[in-house]
Amino acid sequence: MTEYAVEYRKGSKWNQNPDQLYRYMECKLCGAFELACDEKTTAVTCHECVIEMCDPPEIKSNRNSGKPSGWHFMKQFVDKGGNVYHKGVEQPKLKGTLQPTEIKKKKRLSKKEKQKYIQDAAIAVLSLKKELKGLRWKKDKKIVLQEIKNYNKVISGKFTDSLVSKLFS
Ligand SMILES: [Zn+2]
Repeated sequence: MTEYAVEYRKGSKWNQNPDQLYRYMECKLCGAFELACDEKTTAVTCHECVIEMCDPPEIKSNRNSGKPSGWHFMKQFVDKGGNVYHKGVEQPKLKGTLQPTEIKKKKRLSKKEKQKYIQDAAIAVLSLKKELKGLRWKKDKKIVLQEIKNYNKVISGKFTDSLVSKLFS
């Protein structure tokens, strides 16, 4: 038994059988559906969240500071107190000279939006697969394969901000 949502989906990935049903379970942290290996699995954490959990400790201590995740990777970030950071490094001389960086709230996608993304991703995969057939060089194929992989993530229900903005904007 599990307290998380479970879905059975037909195989959609290259290493899955399209006639077989695979058990997906909601990530216990973000709600993205993640392939659950067996019937006994009661909770899963998706790899995106696993990566986040592996952040170095000094980043974690800043979690509740009101800074958005990833602020330390931003070229420039200004916090509410006017402190300026360049790639996470404070720039004391610039303090108070710039407007605080606007923090975009993570919005939850509606079911309709998700379906639209899945549809678009499926179309993209089809044309990428066609493209792949015409490619000669391994390095070119690699790029296309990576793109297919990313679209397949969307098809399997992964809608992280970074993925969606990379693929659909
Ligand atoms: Zn997750």
